[in-house]
Amino acid sequence: MSGDLAAAARRAAELRRGIEQANYEYYVLDAPTLSDADYDRLLRELKALEGAHPELVTPDSPTQRVGAEPASQLEKVRHLAPLYSLDNAFEADELRAWEDRNARIVPEVRQGGYVVELKIDGLAVALLYEDGVLVRGATRGNGTIGEDVTRNLRTIREIPLRLEGAPPRRLEGAPPRRLEVRGEVYMPISGFNQLNERRAAAGEATFANPRNAAAGSLRQLDPRITADRPLRFFGYQIQPDPEARERLPARTQAEVLDLLTRWRVPVNPERRACRELDEVIAYAAQVERDRERLDYAIDGVVVKVARLDLWPELGVVGEREPRWSVAYKFAPDLATTRLLAIEINVGRTGALNPYAVLEPVEIGGATVKLATLHNFEDIARKDLRVGDTVLVKRAGEVIPQVVAPITEKRTGQERRFAPPEKCPVCGTPVERPTDEVMAYCPNGSCPARIFWGLVHFASQDAMDIRGLGERTTQQLLDAGLVRHFADLYRIRPEDLLRLEGFAELSSRKLVEAIESSKTRPLARVLYALGIRHVGVHAAQLLARHFGTMEALAAAPPQELAAVHGIGETTAEAVAAWFGRAANRKLIERLSRAGVNLMEPVERAARLALSGLTFVITGTLPSMSRKEATAFIERHGGRVAGAVTRATDYLVAGEDPGSKLERARELGIRILSESELRQLALARADE
Ligand code: NAD
Repeated sequence: MSGDLAAAARRAAELRRGIEQANYEYYVLDAPTLSDADYDRLLRELKALEGAHPELVTPDSPTQRVGAEPASQLEKVRHLAPLYSLDNAFEADELRAWEDRNARIVPEVRQGGYVVELKIDGLAVALLYEDGVLVRGATRGNGTIGEDVTRNLRTIREIPLRLEGAPPRRLEGAPPRRLEVRGEVYMPISGFNQLNERRAAAGEATFANPRNAAAGSLRQLDPRITADRPLRFFGYQIQPDPEARERLPARTQAEVLDLLTRWRVPVNPERRACRELDEVIAYAAQVERDRERLDYAIDGVVVKVARLDLWPELGVVGEREPRWSVAYKFAPDLATTRLLAIEINVGRTGALNPYAVLEPVEIGGATVKLATLHNFEDIARKDLRVGDTVLVKRAGEVIPQVVAPITEKRTGQERRFAPPEKCPVCGTPVERPTDEVMAYCPNGSCPARIFWGLVHFASQDAMDIRGLGERTTQQLLDAGLVRHFADLYRIRPEDLLRLEGFAELSSRKLVEAIESSKTRPLARVLYALGIRHVGVHAAQLLARHFGTMEALAAAPPQELAAVHGIGETTAEAVAAWFGRAANRKLIERLSRAGVNLMEPVERAARLALSGLTFVITGTLPSMSRKEATAFIERHGGRVAGAVTRATDYLVAGEDPGSKLERARELGIRILSESELRQLALARADE
């Protein structure tokens, strides 16, 4: 081996190790420590080395395969055909080089046109449909073998359980008998920010970005957790069963997207058919300019050769990158700047949230001055020091984050950060529960906690009091008009007239908004109270189960934990909350003020299983036939004795009878007991 080659081999081995480690963190742990731009650089360097020295390519090189080996406890399944990764182009010239390479293999590509889609930053999944019915859903995994996440995917409401146009209603362009719909599961930015806020408030680690949050949420063993996460889906590819040799009624990628739409699979409306590459480049530039409008993260566009008949001719590089498609990525939303100070916000649960004060820097068209630092452990792990030059990332509307310090730029003047021993707002000694990463101010009367508690109480998902935002809340506190939630209901328009910015009309409007919040259902009141671990979903479960605040307040922890979907931690937090005299007094005051503390009965019926007909067969694991019937009826469904075409679902337990066969013949969806519960919950959130 020449010296050159030996050096290249050493570097290649080093790069492979680094990339494998990053793949593991990214795909298996859903917690990357490398930025995507750094990762892309490593992969490019390895590709360039292997290109110059083809003898260095090993079959297990990350350039040859997709993702990482699935390593979770989820079951493994084999896809109908591999799911690929994509080659990247970062500049217009690289995109042109891609076309030139393709045209040398298949000259028609230049005339056939392209379809440009947005590159959603989520994770790819394959949904297997048989006779139009969703029978399985899996993550991409290593491309060939993925993880079975069917039950989790079923909680995403826009994923059709049955494709429109499937038998018996055969339409033109009906789906083949067996096919995979492939697409991207993603988390909207608004949902991602809320989820992270909720996690931070509960002392749980936050997700680095919407992609990792989506992957972490989908790859759960318990579908109830997935059901509680705001996941969405866009389809973009149809893979018929290669064994069945069924022809797809589409000639171009644009027709594929239309077909999916016709089958009621959600397809991103932001897309464009382009005749030539210059149009592609112009459209990509427009998307990049307008991306702030989108409520989901994208990291570029995906350019696909429009004509499907050219795809097999173009083929796939390695087992990894199809030539007929390329990711045209935007410049990374990264910048370096100086970390001027680390400051702390005290949240409504008392959690101490550190954030970075930065020397203002432009990233992706916006000036960034502040960035989140998650928690004190994160600061220590990244070894961030005040005065450091740091790498900052800002993607879309996601709160900017400090990725890492640039240690080479250290001068020795930087100061390590010591987490405070006392609450920076009220001075109470800080508490650190052993099993949590967050530190807390335990003082319930801490002014910061009261302020954020009120803001939360009035927020949209809680009591939804229009016009009561952060500024007004601060004014009310400063003027001594409120000290706690119940005080809001005593405010009169004339009290508000004294405050800056309030006139007669605005004062009356705010009081009216407060007044009308009295009729919110119990679930919202519960969520508004800001009890630890009680998010929107848990509040709904509790409200529906107990019906009244009184019944809930009287329930011991065991009874709370027996509610399906409520864990022990939540049960204990709820019982502890109602155990405190001050809280019981608060409830009393809310009740006296006329705030509704009951869950309307018709709500469950209207929102959950109404309009659906069920048949039950076999022995269910935890419910008797009678209980299952009562459960379905309580959620608005109807239970019938025999399976007919009008049946929507068969709930099957052990030793099912002939009803199961009949249901299979008719292609009726079959549910287990737990899937039935999920369906009731998932639909109840609609
Ligand atoms: P990719 O993200 O570069 O592209 C392929 C993926 O794009 C598909 O699997 C699909 O999930 C997605 N996609 C979104 N919209 C699509 C559309 N309309 N049509 C087709 N596909 C669409 O490839 P990858 O293999 O998933 O991941 C590689 C990328 O992930 C790297 O470039 C890097 O940015 C990141 N990564 C980062 C780390 C890290 O440590 N930070 C580690 C591994 C990977």
